[in-house]
Amino acid sequence: MLTVSSAVKKLIAKAQPLVDDRRRAGLESVPVAEALGRVPAADIASEIDVPPAANSAMDGYAFCAADAAANKHSLLISQRIPAGTAPAPLRPGTAARIFTGGEIPAGADTVAMQENCIEADDWVKLDKKALAGANIRLQGQDINGGSIIVKAGTRLRAQELGLLSSVGIPRVEVFKPLKVAIFSTGDELVEPGMPLQPGQIYNSNRATLIGLIESLGMVPVDLGVVPDRLAATQHVLKNAAMRGDVVISAGGVSVGEEDYVKAAVEKVGALEFWKVAIKPGKPLAFGHVENTPFIGLPGNPASVFTTFMILARPFLMACQGCHSVAVPQLKAPARFAREAEKRQVYLRGRLSQQAVEIYPNQSSGVLSSACWGDVFVVQKSGESIQEGDLVDVLPYAL
Ligand code: AMP
Ligand code: MG
Repeated sequence: MLTVSSAVKKLIAKAQPLVDDRRRAGLESVPVAEALGRVPAADIASEIDVPPAANSAMDGYAFCAADAAANKHSLLISQRIPAGTAPAPLRPGTAARIFTGGEIPAGADTVAMQENCIEADDWVKLDKKALAGANIRLQGQDINGGSIIVKAGTRLRAQELGLLSSVGIPRVEVFKPLKVAIFSTGDELVEPGMPLQPGQIYNSNRATLIGLIESLGMVPVDLGVVPDRLAATQHVLKNAAMRGDVVISAGGVSVGEEDYVKAAVEKVGALEFWKVAIKPGKPLAFGHVENTPFIGLPGNPASVFTTFMILARPFLMACQGCHSVAVPQLKAPARFAREAEKRQVYLRGRLSQQAVEIYPNQSSGVLSSACWGDVFVVQKSGESIQEGDLVDVLPYAL
């Protein structure tokens, strides 16, 4: 059995060729404001300084500190500079009325807050405490022209979209969204909206997978449900491999008589490994079908969620061109105790007042466990957890 970390490493290593294969991954240019979640293929540099010129951080008065000291801090107001106007050079021995964002005129080096100044008849009594350089945002304090502001392989968040806009970039070249073909297996499955017959259950994995893929900014290609039969499974695998950049299945990957995924992949492609020391979710397949990577997740709904998040997600993100796929790992004191287990356990929990608790029922069939909170608690293989122990916490946050 592979450890979780070696499985993730192997997966990411396998993902590499897909990134470089421009024919598959492909690039496209999109407007910055529509690029949320997308991944640029190359470093992006700024051509300008931000701010492009020094400006005022306050509503107040701009002046030269030496002039103010020489004039008992009382200066004539010689111009008015609202944000958006181009100031004239400051006349020596005078001050400028200035507003937040207003450009600092040549010759001024200090801004005093209006609350600490007294204005009367075109003259201002300046705040004596305003030291040279006060309340000025320097040119380039945010970004220096020529510097790289977004590295290749960064998944763009709202703040990166803002940063790109702040340097005047209208469009970005990003990888096309990865197409992830999915299917569920199982004769017992019916779609929501249909009546439930004896022996049947509703298909939840389909919606979970679609949501997980979309929240990564990728495109799910839904191939529905395949019955528990070898030929049908082979057929859907081939179809999925044609339509997706990656194929992900749920269920039917164990060693039971009614599990056909492993056998079907071996017929139409190849399997590289299929057991990972992770709980929930030990039976997990990785391989390829006609050059398309394939991941077979187990069928239990909480296993699907967990194995997708821990194993499939880093693989998909690497395929999408992301360079860093690590999720920040936090520590929190456990508000529960658990006995050691052989496999590494991903407990579904939630952070509360400086501690982490777990859902009482951690069965792989209990999807409520994943909805109850917002984090996995990682219980390392062979280690017990006592109440109060500092444990590793992985936020779900996608
Ligand atoms: P399997 O991995 O096919 O042996 O399935 C393990 C368990 O998960 C069984 O109880 C299945 O009924 C259940 N299961 C499999 N696929 C789904 C699905 N798409 N939605 C809900 N439950 C499922
Ligand atoms: Mg099944």
